[in-house]
Amino acid sequence: MDMNTIEAIVPTANPAEWREGDAWLAGGTVLFSYGSQTLRRLLDLNSAGWEPVEEDDDGLTLASTCTIARLWEVGDPAGATVARWPALGVVRPCCDAFVASFKIWNLSTVGGNIATSLPAGPMTSLCAALDGVATLWGAAGSRELPVVELVTGDGRNALEPGELIRSVRLPAHALRARTSFRRLSLSNRGRSGALLIGRRDTDGGFVLTVTASTKRPVQLRFAAESLPDGPALAAALDAAIPANLYHDDIHGLPAWRRDMTYRLGEELRLELLEEGA
Ligand SMILES: Cc1cc2nc3c(=O)[nH]c(=O)nc-3n(C[C@H](O)[C@H](O)[C@H](O)COP(=O)(O)OP(=O)(O)OC[C@H]3O[C@@H](n4cnc5c(N)ncnc54)[C@H](O)[C@@H]3O)c2cc1C
Repeated sequence: MDMNTIEAIVPTANPAEWREGDAWLAGGTVLFSYGSQTLRRLLDLNSAGWEPVEEDDDGLTLASTCTIARLWEVGDPAGATVARWPALGVVRPCCDAFVASFKIWNLSTVGGNIATSLPAGPMTSLCAALDGVATLWGAAGSRELPVVELVTGDGRNALEPGELIRSVRLPAHALRARTSFRRLSLSNRGRSGALLIGRRDTDGGFVLTVTASTKRPVQLRFAAESLPDGPALAAALDAAIPANLYHDDIHGLPAWRRDMTYRLGEELRLELLEEGA
């Protein structure tokens, strides 16, 4: 896609350098495929040289520039990282949810996916489900926002003009959990129509994160003392997701997405809460 209004590519991750007509450039898979008639400069975040993945005793930090290919390595089921943090078993299914070409796989980034804020953004699903907290850099300074609140609608988010996602922190309490993943699409290699992740925390709590079927992530949290049975989970979904929050596009009608949300949510509940189910 031609971008013949671009006058400069600037190697910077400094929000003070951002001005009207600029866009942060990460993998470029959206910027260079959709094109633009208005952008003047691309500010290249890759120039910052951020370490893609950093691990310590309190969790994992993913740089926004971490690519899907690099994240895939983190999710190796036989690797040391998943052995330490079992919740990361959902990393590879989330990477696979892109149904990606070689280009998307190797160039597109965690931060670019969240900032694009598509309902079917699998990095939004992953980071929201694992209680990821984004560090945002803007002209006014740095702030933190849970990923589940950062994406606010189809292609909409809480980023201020010129603000960038520096990283996403995945905390230890979520990484220690048992997780499970469900995804449905209308076709074999189609975009996600519903993507749900269930989490059973070490304190016995249950967290269900609904994405792709809804315009923005929706999270239901149940303490160990009030775990839901089937009807209670359905009632919680009723209360959390009004009809107009189900996404409507060529990848699935809202009524189908709603039915699949209840079905996959119940599957995750059975798997994670009902031993032997
Ligand atoms: C064929 C094809 C299939 C695709 N399928 C899917 C799919 O199934 N699901 C899906 O979600 N997406 C899909 N995409 C869209 C896209 O590839 C992904 O969303 C990708 O993860 C975007 O990441 P990127 O690093 O390439 O972003 P870029 O193209 O570099 O940037 C995308 C947008 O995010 C902004 N941005 C990037 N990084 C940051 C940051 N750190 N802070 C603030 N803003 C930032 C940019 O300014 C730009 O507006 C697809 C694209 C193509 C071409």
